[in-house]
Amino acid sequence: MSLINSTIVQHQEEGREQLNVLERTQEVIYKALKELGHKEEAYELLKEPLRLLTVRMPVKMDDGTVQVFTGYRAQHNDAIGPTKGGIRFHPDVTENEVKALSMWMSIKCGITNLPYGGGKGGIQCDPRNMSFPELERLSRSYVRSISQIVGPTKDIPAPDVFTNSQIMAWMMDEYSRIREFDSPGFITGKPLVLGGSRGRESSTAMGVTMIMREAAKVVGIKIKGARIIIQGFGNAGSFLAKFLSDQGAKIVGISDAYGALYNPEGLDIDYLLENRDSFGTVTNLFKDIITNQELLIKPCDILVPAAIENQITEENASHIKAKIVVEAANGPTTLKATEVLTQGGILIVPDVLASSGGVVVSYFEWVQNNQGYYWTDEEVENKLEKILTTAFLNVYQTSVNKGIDMRLAAYMIGLKRMVEASRFRGWI
Ligand code: GLU
Repeated sequence: MSLINSTIVQHQEEGREQLNVLERTQEVIYKALKELGHKEEAYELLKEPLRLLTVRMPVKMDDGTVQVFTGYRAQHNDAIGPTKGGIRFHPDVTENEVKALSMWMSIKCGITNLPYGGGKGGIQCDPRNMSFPELERLSRSYVRSISQIVGPTKDIPAPDVFTNSQIMAWMMDEYSRIREFDSPGFITGKPLVLGGSRGRESSTAMGVTMIMREAAKVVGIKIKGARIIIQGFGNAGSFLAKFLSDQGAKIVGISDAYGALYNPEGLDIDYLLENRDSFGTVTNLFKDIITNQELLIKPCDILVPAAIENQITEENASHIKAKIVVEAANGPTTLKATEVLTQGGILIVPDVLASSGGVVVSYFEWVQNNQGYYWTDEEVENKLEKILTTAFLNVYQTSVNKGIDMRLAAYMIGLKRMVEASRFRGWI
């Protein structure tokens, strides 16, 4: 029995659910490769990133003390081309999480046919308690620490949880100083004036609305008038609430890290957008709040987890009342929960598909940087739409044809070309 199989059995025997995101990812990779008919050596190659760099960064804090931060950069596989993926700043960042996130990026790039493999970075820190100058020093220090293994043709970072265009700008500036030439293509998600792409900031949410529209079609729901719950009010969740309410959907629930709001008559999204802070905190404005866990099981047509990992688990999955779950966050649903939802007739649109709009527009940004020629909003939106509707149809058709859930179908499509490229290169 392979190591991964024995790990799966051990967890099942103990009746514990796999909340470890790396093991969970390995399990789906294993199943997808098996379904594709590949040998064990393909799994050996793809079960872990090819490269993981751990760095420790001393940073001068405003009060004169020095704090040492730990960060990572993982590169899953570069057979297709350079690796690509965001950098998250969060106190819960771990090595295993960054590894799993880099593998999820491989699948996102695979199903949208981008010329990249997956990468991801993370720093253990809490930007909510740091000043701007402290964040700038940390961001620059991280780039100095990983500069050997990144670059416009090696590994291209981008924003993720709690990082934004200002942080990308500092990082791009630091990288350009190290290389001694302007390198806009080193990182994506930059401000427009520094070579950012039109539409990048709202692209994850824009992509979610496009994918959701396709999913709603196959389930027979209309977005106009649909009751939608969005867990999370950060970059993805807040833009999404706006786009969907503009399309006539009723946003009945939203949440932040501290609690949730639910109103069956619909929430006033414009008020929430105007009054949220830069980390998406809004529940502090209200007295009547519920917990995130309570929100997930409230009545709705479409549930969108747009916050963090492991939110829908074996414990709450059977209480979810939505007809569709669209994963705008990375890794919000465990495998056991995916099974429970699927058996209950709920369509679950996996993260690697639903949230891939961000990396697609990042790819557009990198292409525009490389050619020095910039596109209009309309061009970006049209190209994004074409890529995402094709990706949805491919994943959905594969899941229907093979009688498997959309997560496994997405992994099969995403990994297929990575194995092919690895084979042509003579790696396996
Ligand atoms: N962090 C985003 C994601 O998880 C975007 C990555 C990118 O733009 O490269 O998909």
